[in-house]
Amino acid sequence: MTTRRQTFRLYPNKTQENQLFEARRNHAYLYNACVAHRRYEWRANKKIVTYLEQQNCLPAFKKEWVEFAYLHSQSLQATVKRVDLAYGAFFQGLRGLPRFKSIRNYSGWSYPAKSGWKVNSNGKHGSVTLNDLDITLKMRGQAKQWGNPTTLTIVYKPSRNQWFASITVDIPAFECKFCEQSNLSYESIVAFDLGTETAITLYDGEKFTEIENPRFTQKAEQEIKQKSKALRRKTAPNKNKKVKGSRRWKKARKQISKLQRKVSSQRLDWQHKVTSDIASRYDIGVTEQLNTKGMTRKAKKGSKRKKQKAGLNKSILAVGFGALNQMIAYKIEQKGGLLLTLPTKQIKPSQRCPKCGVVHKHWAELSNRYHICDACGFEIPRDKGSVMVMYNVVTNQQPGLGTSLVDCGCLSSTNLTGKRKHTGSMRQLGQMKRQKSSRKSDGDLETPPVFTAG
Ligand SMILES: [Zn+2]
Repeated sequence: MTTRRQTFRLYPNKTQENQLFEARRNHAYLYNACVAHRRYEWRANKKIVTYLEQQNCLPAFKKEWVEFAYLHSQSLQATVKRVDLAYGAFFQGLRGLPRFKSIRNYSGWSYPAKSGWKVNSNGKHGSVTLNDLDITLKMRGQAKQWGNPTTLTIVYKPSRNQWFASITVDIPAFECKFCEQSNLSYESIVAFDLGTETAITLYDGEKFTEIENPRFTQKAEQEIKQKSKALRRKTAPNKNKKVKGSRRWKKARKQISKLQRKVSSQRLDWQHKVTSDIASRYDIGVTEQLNTKGMTRKAKKGSKRKKQKAGLNKSILAVGFGALNQMIAYKIEQKGGLLLTLPTKQIKPSQRCPKCGVVHKHWAELSNRYHICDACGFEIPRDKGSVMVMYNVVTNQQPGLGTSLVDCGCLSSTNLTGKRKHTGSMRQLGQMKRQKSSRKSDGDLETPPVFTAG
């Protein structure tokens, strides 16, 4: 069973919106009341208030403050829980002391279980009913995957003046299509590498495909820069001097955030398109371990390549390497395929000659865009060379690397949930293939293949 979060936009009418605002206000009051309670108890009695104590206060609280009485009890508990989580993070040293939240910017409230609300949708558009407010809201949006709805969070975004329903759904456990008869063929393998010049380079044993980096970020970036410059000339709010932000300042800030939002949704759209396309065409994806953290680290102090590194960092972040990899992984695994992650350190795909297997240390430098092997004379552009090595490794065709590496279990399917659906060693893959083909030839369907899903 996997859980996924789906977001739909809500379209309340005027009276409904007023009801939503009222409920949000009440939840914000409750949140602040809980923070105040904790602060008071600490100051007066040096006592740490627990979640349970506050939760047990709720019935009495509702009797006193009748305007809260109509709200769903579990959703009130969820708001109390938010305070508890904020304090939990504070006690662990992860966050600062929880503050009072401005009612104007309060985000919303949750229904933590299945009661108190109902979704009427099959994953595309539909409506959601909130029992405590006694309203049914129209919603629009399309879920990538739909299942059994379990929790609901109502979110308000003040900057956009829009309402959203964030619904988590339980999706039935992945069924290994391989065990049944399916048309998945583990012969369609693709090796891919993420780069900065070419966003993705693919190799499927026959041809290379290069997916260009979208340039919309650079264009928008210039615009954002200009607008930020204009913003700096306007009166910004300053709490110490008790200056409020000017109207022009607010307006300029709004324009900037609108642009940033546009870029991020463009990027997301592009990522989804590209990754869906790859996942639909291939059953096995092969890539190398990514170290985006190291890649995006700032250049060392005094390094001559500071500027270069900054530019590289920017384009790495712009494409969103981690996000791309994860998307390909979950999309491929959703249809029953698998993603193999090769250990970069052992294989060194960017330093190894795909033809003869000799490792050239100087190939590792990023300035070397085109590789010529001095052992066998093979020529190939850098990105293409490394995907070719990766492809060769999984298909056991790479000279210079024994099969021991492939069999040792270094290969593993990266999965978002951290569990492995297929143990991705090549030997097991081979077994699966054999079982499949023997099943086909004998027509023997009575003994299901032994399949280890680890
Ligand atoms: Zn060579």
